[in-house]
Amino acid sequence: MRSDPAGYELVAPESLQAVVLLLAAEPGEWLPIAGGTDVMVQYAAGTLSARKLVSLWNLPELRRIEVFDNEVRIGAGCTYTDIQRHEVLRREFPLLTTAARWTGGIANQNRGTLAGNIVNASPAADSLPALLVYEAELILVSARGERRARYVDFHTGYKKTQLAPDELIRTVCLSRQFVRYLSNARKVGARNAQAISKVCIAALGRVDQGVVEDIRIAVGSVAPVPLRLLQTERVVKGQRIDHHLVLRAKQSAVEEIRPIDDIRSTAAYRAAVSGNLVAEFLEKLAGSVSEA
Ligand SMILES: Cc1cc2nc3c(=O)[nH]c(=O)nc-3n(C[C@H](O)[C@H](O)[C@H](O)COP(=O)(O)OP(=O)(O)OC[C@H]3O[C@@H](n4cnc5c(N)ncnc54)[C@H](O)[C@@H]3O)c2cc1C
Repeated sequence: MRSDPAGYELVAPESLQAVVLLLAAEPGEWLPIAGGTDVMVQYAAGTLSARKLVSLWNLPELRRIEVFDNEVRIGAGCTYTDIQRHEVLRREFPLLTTAARWTGGIANQNRGTLAGNIVNASPAADSLPALLVYEAELILVSARGERRARYVDFHTGYKKTQLAPDELIRTVCLSRQFVRYLSNARKVGARNAQAISKVCIAALGRVDQGVVEDIRIAVGSVAPVPLRLLQTERVVKGQRIDHHLVLRAKQSAVEEIRPIDDIRSTAAYRAAVSGNLVAEFLEKLAGSVSEA
């Protein structure tokens, strides 16, 4: 442990309102800490610059999953375990519950939260491609009030977000419109569990009378931010899936991503795998038609 606990202050207010008032009083001074699975890694490494931490752990306002007719609202402090256990999420948002199952080990899933994954803003984060394809919206809260923002706009660059210094994520909203979609999630890493992705994909699609009516594809670890492959979606949408379309989609996916070489993989490998994962999804989608 390279940090000295005596150099840090930690407070744990009992309500969300008390937390936002604290953030408003000294914007940028207090770092929210939820499960701590990212923050404590920085603390242990001696790289945590914030000295004042405000805990969000167990704030009841952030731990609810509420089901409405049109959307499911996931409290920002819900853990991966909460998400995996929720029946409606498992049934209607399997890309998210699958990503939750992949994220670290059991201990990590019991502490790590969805909002922590979003704000930590790693391009390799496993749950973020799912939020992109489900077109999630975020409810952000501060002492100034609440605002609703599209998740797709949240990451403004590598590890940069739209969050103001006095703001928190309060809720992640998922529209309940994907029940009839085929979905596919894949994580390619050194191992299936306990490994950071070299590439991960979340994809949704719907085919009507042999034609791709809607398709959404997002990938992680291949750009400074999690990326929705909008150009590739346009190539496929409205078409019948055949060998030529699969090749065009693979090519398009490789054009859209911006992978790099790093300690986990190479740009060339990431590009090849991304193309293959897109092809794999399209083949499944085509299979779902012939099986129907
Ligand atoms: C052993 C290990 C394995 C891991 N494996 C994976 C993996 O496989 N895949 C993966 O994607 N990640 C993985 N992680 C990373 C981590 O678990 C996730 O990013 C997790 O979701 C972070 O959530 P947290 O609640 O612990 O965040 P914290 O560490 O508490 O906070 C992270 C950041 O989010 C901010 N924050 C938290 N909640 C809010 C909020 N409501 N509003 C505003 N800001 C907030 C904090 O200020 C901080 O900047 C792993 C981590 C460890 C230690």
